[in-house]
Amino acid sequence: MGETNKNLWAPWRLEYVKSLSGESSDGCFLCRYAETPEKDRDNLVIWRTDRCFALFNRFPYANGHLLIAPLAHRPELHDLDEPTLHELICLTRDAQRLVRAATGCHGSNVGMNFGKCAGAGLPGHLHMHVVPRWEGDINFMSVLSDTRVIPQSFEALREAMAEAIGQLGLPPLRG
Ligand SMILES: [Zn+2]
Repeated sequence: MGETNKNLWAPWRLEYVKSLSGESSDGCFLCRYAETPEKDRDNLVIWRTDRCFALFNRFPYANGHLLIAPLAHRPELHDLDEPTLHELICLTRDAQRLVRAATGCHGSNVGMNFGKCAGAGLPGHLHMHVVPRWEGDINFMSVLSDTRVIPQSFEALREAMAEAIGQLGLPPLRG
């Protein structure tokens, strides 16, 4: 449990990190998803703009964990032009709002990791995390150590999101 306390992301993300093959765009799942909009439903992509997209994290830290990324394979914020940065933060804003409405979470973490030392599982393709949080979830996690509990399937959560979108006036989900 010591490692869990030192590095919030590591134990759950091991499988995810193992599934990646380095920093080249060849092995980058975000590039693969970005290039196949016809598979958005299977790839758990929920939104696209001209330059960015939003999707479920297949290896979520919590139920409803979303990723927002540029379509282009870029490692750093300073590699993005102004319109891309604008779309990235606007999608993040909408994703945070959607996650809150669809999951009933009490709060959220929104953030980015740059470089492997900072916890980035995919350092070549920057991405924003939106992670819903509940009062007391840290205590719950530390009791269970590295066991994840994801109570709602992606499909069920997608339905909750579709419903919330109608109420919030956000763009419709892909697929
Ligand atoms: Zn990429």
